[in-house]
Amino acid sequence: MPTASRHLVSNNIFDGPYYLSIAGKLVETKDTFEVFNPATATVLANAPAGTAEQLDEAVASAKKAFKSWSVLTYDQRQTYLNAFADALEVHRDELSRLLTLEQGKPLKTGAEPEVDQSISWIRQIAARRIPVEIIEDTDSHTVELHHTPLGVVGAITPWNFPVLLALWKVAPALLTGNTMVIKPSPFTPLTTLRFGQIAQSVFPAGVLSIVSGGNELGPQMTAHPDIAKISFTGSTETGKHVIRSAAGTVKRLTLEMGGNDAAIVLPDADWQAAIPQLFWGAIGNSGQWCVGTKRLYIHRSFHREFVDAFVAYAREQKLGDGLEPSVTVGPVQNKMQFDKVRTFLDDIKANGQKIVLGGDVDESRAGYFIPVTVVDNPPENSKIVQEEQFGPIVPIIVYDDVDDVVERANDSPFGLGGSVWGRDTQAAVAVANRLETGMVWVNEMHTQGVDIPFGGHKQSGVGTEGGHEGRLLFTNPKTVLIKK
Ligand code: NAD
Repeated sequence: MPTASRHLVSNNIFDGPYYLSIAGKLVETKDTFEVFNPATATVLANAPAGTAEQLDEAVASAKKAFKSWSVLTYDQRQTYLNAFADALEVHRDELSRLLTLEQGKPLKTGAEPEVDQSISWIRQIAARRIPVEIIEDTDSHTVELHHTPLGVVGAITPWNFPVLLALWKVAPALLTGNTMVIKPSPFTPLTTLRFGQIAQSVFPAGVLSIVSGGNELGPQMTAHPDIAKISFTGSTETGKHVIRSAAGTVKRLTLEMGGNDAAIVLPDADWQAAIPQLFWGAIGNSGQWCVGTKRLYIHRSFHREFVDAFVAYAREQKLGDGLEPSVTVGPVQNKMQFDKVRTFLDDIKANGQKIVLGGDVDESRAGYFIPVTVVDNPPENSKIVQEEQFGPIVPIIVYDDVDDVVERANDSPFGLGGSVWGRDTQAAVAVANRLETGMVWVNEMHTQGVDIPFGGHKQSGVGTEGGHEGRLLFTNPKTVLIKK
């Protein structure tokens, strides 16, 4: 049985070198690729570039490990998961620092909460169970519904919350008896490689492997005959590739994809009190949040005062390197995203839309810094309203009529989350119930929990993570019919 004291990782490993984790071993690669610190735009470390053969080895070891892992009891797997959480906890400070270095988010308000939440999540999920259900029990017949593990799960993760979004997959997949291979984003592989290294001293060989490398490993995973399910978090465009590629082997899929969440602030809302939550809902993680508020709809009756107060709150924030304690907004994570977010600024300016804060990138500054930018009442059909900006720009859009704003909020191929704000809670809930989304918050923002399903409607997702519903998706519903 595992114990936290068994883990072999010393603190200085966080400085590198980095290894793949395959079949319980740390594995070197012939080639490496550069990982950048987004706050300085300099190379932070070289990450191992796993090959197609190494991915095959990881999948083969996961397949082998599945035989013994899947027959353990829930209690036994819980013990392993808790030991993993304990081992991560020992390295919580180093993991958080590394997360800031590779992702850019502020250490105290971004990275440490992400690592802490991940550890807590593992412990809480470890305590959950999926019991056998008796569907029918008569004198002559019993029908049972079991939820059996699927096999090897492939996890494909993005760069915005690299630790949390990976461990959201690890905990339920392993608890329910699956084994897993993770392919982290090439932009943020380091924290995943490190927690993978820690995992090797806790789990039996092959239960959890990490293979970093280029995007080409993704299609290899989605087509792999020995991977039973792909749990993917990333953009909708990539998710469509995953669906196509997974068809060949009829893989199970959970897809958490893009969003264009609307926040609707109703005429009776206590909007002054809501400003900090609305601000961080949009600008938290530098706007690189799948459920970030990407459209802020404000009733005309208080629009002007709202914009002034929102901008005043935004001016209190400090943009900079997430390791600096006073910094509250970090850089955009990578050069590709930095360039993409700038196309929104260019479009806003080219179309003469009104920028009331930010808008200009300081070209003399190293790092991928986009200032918090507020756009006042751009037209509904503008790029910043219609597309997912995934950066620190927020459009504040005026509306007059609640039916009309619900229609505008729903007029999107996305349907991830959203929020509604109003003093009359019942009326706000009635509006929330009309939004075509997977999640909607009323008078609060982004509350989450291990028993709360998290997922998207329309092109924002397939299936959910979290919640009993999310855990069930790591299992095969197997009906056992017994004649007495
Ligand atoms: P991305 O789609 O570019 O990459 C996601 C992952 O897919 C990476 O690991 C990448 O290497 C891999 N990949 C790339 N091509 C692939 C292919 N053909 N087949 C399989 N895998 C492939 O996304 P990103 O830029 O890393 O992340 C940002 C996007 O993720 C945003 O759209 C955001 O809304 C979304 N996101 C969604 C959620 C959610 O829970 N719904 C959470 C976080 C991020």
